[in-house]
Amino acid sequence: MTRTKRPGGSKKRKSEAIDERAAKRPNNTSEPIQNAAIAPTPPPEPTASAPAPVQSPAQPKLSDADTAHIKAYLDRTERPFAVLAIPASKKRKRSSASHQLIHDDLYDPRLTLQYEIKPFDKWSSLRKYKKFSVGSESIGCGECVLVKHTDETTGPIDYDAQWKARVLEIRALDQEHVYLRVAWLNRPEDLEIGRKRYHGKLELIPTNQLDIIDAMAVNGRIDVMHWDELLDDDPKAMPEEDQYFWRYTYDFVHTKSYSKLREICVCKTPQNPDELIVSCENNDCGQWMHTKCIAEAAVKPPTTNGTAKTPQKGGKAKKRASKVTTPTFNPDSRAVAIASSGDGELTAEVFIKGQPKGPNMEVSDKDEIVVTNSGDGVKRTEAVRCLFCQSPLA
Ligand SMILES: [Zn+2]
Ligand SMILES: [Zn+2]
Repeated sequence: MTRTKRPGGSKKRKSEAIDERAAKRPNNTSEPIQNAAIAPTPPPEPTASAPAPVQSPAQPKLSDADTAHIKAYLDRTERPFAVLAIPASKKRKRSSASHQLIHDDLYDPRLTLQYEIKPFDKWSSLRKYKKFSVGSESIGCGECVLVKHTDETTGPIDYDAQWKARVLEIRALDQEHVYLRVAWLNRPEDLEIGRKRYHGKLELIPTNQLDIIDAMAVNGRIDVMHWDELLDDDPKAMPEEDQYFWRYTYDFVHTKSYSKLREICVCKTPQNPDELIVSCENNDCGQWMHTKCIAEAAVKPPTTNGTAKTPQKGGKAKKRASKVTTPTFNPDSRAVAIASSGDGELTAEVFIKGQPKGPNMEVSDKDEIVVTNSGDGVKRTEAVRCLFCQSPLA
């Protein structure tokens, strides 16, 4: 049987992020959440006790005067702290060397960076915590969060539009002054590269772009899984369709470059985890292919032998295969991929045995390609063949 790869059918909850209104609600229960040291939402009563640190930081206690001084600074400054990344090329200045910090707990060692926080004296005088709470949710260092980017407080959370970040450090003066040092996780469309065909719907790209944000902007936690593309045969290694995931990183500070993605198929592009890929059963080949590319190959004009779609060698005027378009895909179709020739005359639908998987979906009982000619309505079926070695896939 053709080996296939795509997210399984079991549905997981979108995330554990809590309702925005709940996040906004004052934390009026007096029972502390275990380990939750501080609540970024203001307590309704000024009698709320001082946060109990879960980590005993080795830092001097602030005097009342110092506390009042810092509080006044935090209250009058909209963005009280800034993180300045130090490019690798820049020589360290002796004077500020002691304030340069290295962070190496990012997803990928290549993202390691040196940075400074300004004003450092105020930041370092805030107490460090391992966790903070939003509504009833306790969030720890290393976890990922949704960050509001507007003051919109009504209606359901638009998960897609929310910013996403990983919490790296938590510091607070008191319950009303809780700050998080975060590293942003970008959506592909938020980066210069833009969204490509291989990006998954819920793909996030970790960066080493750091920021310090007010914990009040946090809208709850999300789970972001790491997808290791090389774990081919373990379906659990793949993200579910409704699961945030990351597989490669963007070095924002030093090289402005992306880490490598695995390239597959004749088109040498990465896999989109939301779309099916299949592998060749021929042991000498074993290549993975996009079903989409199989559909596209089926509507390209045949070469003389009627099968191979690779352009002939030599001959300057290589005829470019006519353009292929993506027709509207009926989500109820049993086809796993569909493509039309540029003139719209031919449409190919690829069916793979046992697919598509999903609740209440009718599955195909064999592998085949159905090519429909819109001119005369005639349909012909073809075997699904490997795009590399032409052997039938089933
Ligand atoms: Zn391909
Ligand atoms: Zn093959």
